[in-house]
Amino acid sequence: MAGLDDRVPMDLAAYERRVRSERCFICAFLDGEPGSEHEWLYDDGAHVAFLGRYPTLAGHTLVVPRRHVEDVVRDFTPEEYLSLQAVVHRVARAVGEVLRPERTYLLSLGSMQGNAHVHWHVAPLPPGVPYERQQFHALMTEHGVLPWTPQQFAELGARIRAVLAHG
Ligand SMILES: [Zn+2]
Repeated sequence: MAGLDDRVPMDLAAYERRVRSERCFICAFLDGEPGSEHEWLYDDGAHVAFLGRYPTLAGHTLVVPRRHVEDVVRDFTPEEYLSLQAVVHRVARAVGEVLRPERTYLLSLGSMQGNAHVHWHVAPLPPGVPYERQQFHALMTEHGVLPWTPQQFAELGARIRAVLAHG
């Protein structure tokens, strides 16, 4: 059903160890550190968007400021906040054009104990997911992740970038 049944269990303990002990995964990715690669979607010099590496939904995207800031409200001036939101909107529209979701979820989570770098999730819920498996259920890696290959990330990334290139 809508790809959700393709999910496989994720090693959550290993993931938690990694995010709580290693350097910021977003800064590592932006610095081009080996092993920190993600599929790029967008880069305007101040903000970057890329596909999440552990997608619970096809097209799960992160939009981040390049600068390592940790508070989604206090670390932004109103103008900086709105310019980040403009990128969230633009990227989410492109993701939606490719994947045609029933609903687009936008949220900022993270933790000061791991994944502190501010990031916005763009999570497109496919049509046809039963109510009880929507919303937080659809986002939780505890319910498995899509076992995507690098090629699948690259193909979807190319489709989203093509839409972004036209608007
Ligand atoms: Zn960072």
